Amino acid sequence: AADKEKTSSVAKIKVVVRKRPLNKKELAKNEEDIIDTHSNSLTVHETKLKVDLTEYIEKHEFVFDAVLNEEVSNDEVYRETVEPIVPIIFQRTKATCFAYGQTGSGKTYTMKPLPLKASRDILRLMHHTYRNQGFQLFVSFFEIYGGKLYDLLSDRKKLCMREDGKQQVCIVGLQEYGVSDVETIKDLIEKGSATRSTGTTGANEESSRSHAILQLAIKRSVDGNESKPPRLVGKLSFIDLAGSERGADTTDNDKQTRMEGAEINKSLLALKECIRALDNDKSHIPFRGSKLTEVLRDSFVGNSRTVMISCISPSSGSCEHTLNTLRYADRVK
Ligand code: ADP
Ligand code: MG
Repeated sequence: AADKEKTSSVAKIKVVVRKRPLNKKELAKNEEDIIDTHSNSLTVHETKLKVDLTEYIEKHEFVFDAVLNEEVSNDEVYRETVEPIVPIIFQRTKATCFAYGQTGSGKTYTMKPLPLKASRDILRLMHHTYRNQGFQLFVSFFEIYGGKLYDLLSDRKKLCMREDGKQQVCIVGLQEYGVSDVETIKDLIEKGSATRSTGTTGANEESSRSHAILQLAIKRSVDGNESKPPRLVGKLSFIDLAGSERGADTTDNDKQTRMEGAEINKSLLALKECIRALDNDKSHIPFRGSKLTEVLRDSFVGNSRTVMISCISPSSGSCEHTLNTLRYADRVK
């Protein structure tokens, strides 16, 4: 019963927005910061034109669980989003943290430090609170690109997914590393991130078309029996989503780009529906809508937790994309 209390005190779904500072490029173009932030709300000041071409400002106000402004550090982001979830992973909970937003809005900047900070706390719990109880931590890191899975810790080896009939997702061939120190985890995160951003063509832009998924799994050996494979206890997934603007690449001249755009659009829509279904305790979760949601299927059932970090640029030049991101977040909330 104590376990139940512990898990139920953490919100099922939490939606936070993170605004980054204006960057050099935006400053050079004299773009302005059009976002006012408050503790859990923000206002977007959109410049519009009247029919006589004079300008006016339209204000859009949004309320979320938290709004993190440009002065908030990655440490504070961790404390606000993932830290409260870490202890309940030991109570058979699956949790997912997403970074959503247009390319350049700060998804990777926000997401990359989180698994390391979480692992540090997980290992601390294993060494103190759960000392000698047979818990082990495993790390895997893969991406979904054009609806296909690639292992970021095995030179982008192509992977396939299988369902085991018991609502567990099995990704065949995915490398899972048992880890017991923070340095090793750091190296794995660096390795996977580097594999992702160079992709096959070496173009940095590839990463904006893929979803990167880093999973921390907590397992436990059965009755202290080390010869049997340990059983999954809980899982924490970190998802650096494809650039949300890529979902609109459905009219591009290039067929490949169009297909990728359609897949991204489909997955982001399916994701929104799955999170909404989770919040309403619906028995039918529409995870079959895309590869992304199929892979996360076991994180959309039962006693799961979701944190969505919506990343936005402050600049006037990104106003339309920012409003799209905020509207998406508003639907999930
Ligand atoms: P995305 O992954 O959404 O495409 P990035 O995380 O790569 O965007 O961020 C784009 C650029 O902005 C990077 O150079 C990054 O270092 C910088 N940046 C993003 N968020 C912040 C922030 N909160 N504070 C300072 N710099 C940031
Ligand atoms: Mg990125």
